[in-house]
Amino acid sequence: MAKLKLATQWLEECAGCHMSILDIDERIVELLKHVELTSSPLTDLKHPPEEGVDIGILSGAVGNEEEVQDAREMRARAKTLIAFGDCAVFGGVCTLRNFFTKDEVLRRAYVEAESTMDGHVPEHEDLSPLTERVMSVGDVVPVDVYLPGCPPNADTIWYVLSELIAGRMPKLEGDKTLKYGLDG
Ligand code: SF4
Repeated sequence: MAKLKLATQWLEECAGCHMSILDIDERIVELLKHVELTSSPLTDLKHPPEEGVDIGILSGAVGNEEEVQDAREMRARAKTLIAFGDCAVFGGVCTLRNFFTKDEVLRRAYVEAESTMDGHVPEHEDLSPLTERVMSVGDVVPVDVYLPGCPPNADTIWYVLSELIAGRMPKLEGDKTLKYGLDG
């Protein structure tokens, strides 16, 4: 049977979610028997292939214009899209920014921080503008599977991926499949 194509992308992420994919440990060997990992921070390829993938994973919240485009691109190219981790599912810790205006946040970070002298807010065409507020992935594009956790538990990640490999839509419910943290 042909392998399923899997692409992952991190948006406004601390890297913990992608590290948690590696927490499935030896099951990675089994996973790679069934999927081909295309673009991913793990492979350092930035864009999902134009011909599309079977499973797309987006982790992190959406907080700037580049991340909006990345989310739309993954949605357009993935048959099944997973919002992976609390930041992707509901915005998570990134939404603390939403208590302040963009200008307040930028000034605090680049001008007013106690460790900063003569700071200024950087501007460059390569720096993506912040969105007005931080959003979940589902605020920007339709999501097929919501996989919460900060980061998601390895057993839950494995459950979701193995169900999709088997051609079933995973059902995350109660404490049977919805586990949090490294110890479940
Ligand atoms: S959900 Fe937690 S582990 Fe994942 S990106 Fe957000 S803060 Fe990091």
